[in-house]
Formats: sequence, C-alpha cells, structure tokens
Amino acid sequence: MEYQNLLPRFLKYVQVNSRSDEYSDRFPSTEKVENFQKKVIMPDLEDLGLRDVHYNQQSGCVIAEIPATVDYDVPVMGFLAHCDTADFNAENIRPQVHENYDGKSKIQLGDSEFFLNPAVFPNLQNYQGQTIITASGDTLLGGDDKCGVAELVTLAEYLLAHPEIKHGKIRLAFTPDEEIGTGAEHFDVAEFGADFAFTVDGEAPGKLDWGTFSAAQFSLEIQGVNVHPAVAKGQMINAIQVGIDFQNQLPGAEVPEKTDGKAGFFHLTNFTGTVDHARLDYIIRDFEREGLEERKNLVKAIVAQMNEQFGSDRIKLQMSDQYYNMADELAKHMEIVDLAREAYKKQGLEINEDPVRGGTDGSQLTYMGLPCPNLFAGEENMHGRYEYTVLESMYKAVDVMVTMAELNAAK
Ligand SMILES: [Zn+2]
Repeated sequence: MEYQNLLPRFLKYVQVNSRSDEYSDRFPSTEKVENFQKKVIMPDLEDLGLRDVHYNQQSGCVIAEIPATVDYDVPVMGFLAHCDTADFNAENIRPQVHENYDGKSKIQLGDSEFFLNPAVFPNLQNYQGQTIITASGDTLLGGDDKCGVAELVTLAEYLLAHPEIKHGKIRLAFTPDEEIGTGAEHFDVAEFGADFAFTVDGEAPGKLDWGTFSAAQFSLEIQGVNVHPAVAKGQMINAIQVGIDFQNQLPGAEVPEKTDGKAGFFHLTNFTGTVDHARLDYIIRDFEREGLEERKNLVKAIVAQMNEQFGSDRIKLQMSDQYYNMADELAKHMEIVDLAREAYKKQGLEINEDPVRGGTDGSQLTYMGLPCPNLFAGEENMHGRYEYTVLESMYKAVDVMVTMAELNAAK
C-alpha cells in the first residue's frame, strides 16, 4: 500500500480541534487553528524534508515546497487545503473507522443515538467494500478539510519518496479561516509563487469545481416613528412593518428554499426590530455577473421608491460585493481546468462539474491573480455530526494530484 500513512495522519489531524470563529477579531480567528498549523502541520512537513517550510504571518498560512524533479521549466502548480473546521462542536473528536462497509447497513456514530442511514444519505451506497470514517455522534468529523490537509501531506511524502516521477516545483499552502470566509483575502499570492493552484476541499471522487456563485450582501437600517398606539393613526411608522413591506417586494420564489441548480436568490439572514428601528441582513447569489447586478439594482430601486414615498431616507441601504463566479475569470485559463479533467479521466473517474451553489477560497484567489479551481477531497455530509469520509476517496485524491503533477511536466 503506497499511502499507508494517510489514514493514521488523517486520524491524528481530525482529533486536533481547529474550529474557526466568525466573531473573533484576531487572525487567524482562533489560537486553535494557528496551533494546529504551527504545532502539528509544520513539524510534519519538516520531518518529511520539504523545502521552504514556513509560516507566512500575513496570510496566516503554512507554506511548503515539493522540489522539482525535472531540470526544465514547468509552470508552478500549487495545492491548498484549509486547516479550520466548520461551526459545529469540535471538542474531543473521536473518529471511528468502519472497514469493508456493506453498502446498505446503518452505521452507528460511536455509541450515540445517531446513525448514518443509507436511506437518508444514499451516497453511502456508492462505497460498498470501502472504509468509512465517521465521528462519534456529538461532534463533526472535520474531514472538511482535514481530508485535503492529510492528502497534501501524503502527496508530498509520496513524491519525495519517488524522485523518478517527473514533475515541476509544487507549492503547498495550509490556510486558515475558510469556513468563516475571511482566510483567502489575506493570501500572499506573490510569496506563494505558483502560476495556478487548486484548493483540495471537495466532495466525492470526480467532483471538479470551477463555477461558483457571484455574491453580494446588503443590510437595511430602518428608522421608524414610535408614538403611543392609542394616538398612532397617521403618525406611527412601524419599522418592523417597513421591513416586512420591503421583503414582500422581493420575488418570493427566488429564495434558497425554492431554488436549485443554476438559479440565484435573495436570502434574508437576519431580521431584528422594534417599532422604532429595524435591521435586515441579506445575501444575494447569482451565477451570472449580470444577474447579480440586476438583483442589486432591484434592491436599490425598491429602497429608493419606498424612501420617496416616506419623503425621507428612512431606509438606509448598505451593499457590498463578496466574490464573483470564478468561471468568468477561469475562462481565460481553461488549460488549468483541462489539466484536472485529464487527470480525472486517467484515474478512471466520471467527471462531475455541477456548479457550486456557494463560493470557495478559490473564488477570491482567482480574482487575486491565482487561478484556482477546486478538486474533490472525499468529504461527505460536511459541517455536522453526519459528516463522513471514505479512505479510498482520499487515496484517489492523492492519485489525481500525482497524475496532475506528471501531466503538468509532460506538456
Ligand atoms: Zn471546506
């Protein structure tokens, strides 16, 4: 077995709590993430004998390099995996290894009352005869993205042990705070020094992500007029009602719970209020950049028209863009997507390029000058107690990266 250290490495990593915290004002957002990076990942990379292992203070990333085995110029490829885990209990994670799964039984999560049931999670049926790794019921597993982290380290170990494999220089980054969406903005593209890269943070083997939403957010602050209800007629302006009236003018079918595939939406994420004052927070998502602009313009028009009726700026709108569909930018670099496609095919995988109804770190990095699609890592049911991964999927992810390294040097 070529990747015999992958499983123990993964089990070691998931047991280290590295949960990020969206309410933190430090960077990386928690000491836990930083400790995992500096005290667990970095020593492992140093022990393997990788080149240029260091912590980049600005980006909050552990960086390392797999030296080239060829003496001609090859575009520098990078791989990234994020070290933080999602907003779910990560205290005392006890991974459970279920070998030779029969593809139909329920899997008990530790000795808890919770089960992974193939009737609820039909993907399980794809993994007959394979090794399923779960948590024990009261935590997440953290395979998102410790799968990617363990796969990158294993890739490095494998390539260092096989100098006969021809490949160029490969840069690795172990990033913080992906789950809270703030990690990528600090990324030091110049210091990383790759011509293109891939995040390794995806689902089942074959999944290849290079289309994402374009995204914006906005908030409304509404100033009401609070007078005693007994004498309110013609005078009171109930800020809560104004918020409801705004919400009701958005297209009611264009919400997350009623859309899928390539359809975008408006999503009200928070509504707090009194008669005197209300606040609404929204996110807007659309695969088309034009569609995003149209949605933003609709919001502006509704607010303008309501304020005009009030005769004052009772509704204050704040709006900002978050990230853009990486497909628009990657269209200029399709050879990168093709490299991944070719490697998937060589590995016998059926390619699934369904667009991501979300963003990835790669969405931001691509617009920061580092074209960066996302590869599968073998993650399933991310972000909760039902999370699991499949050992064979993780092996496949390493196989794909090795193949990509070879293909990249062969061109
Ligand atoms: Zn992830």
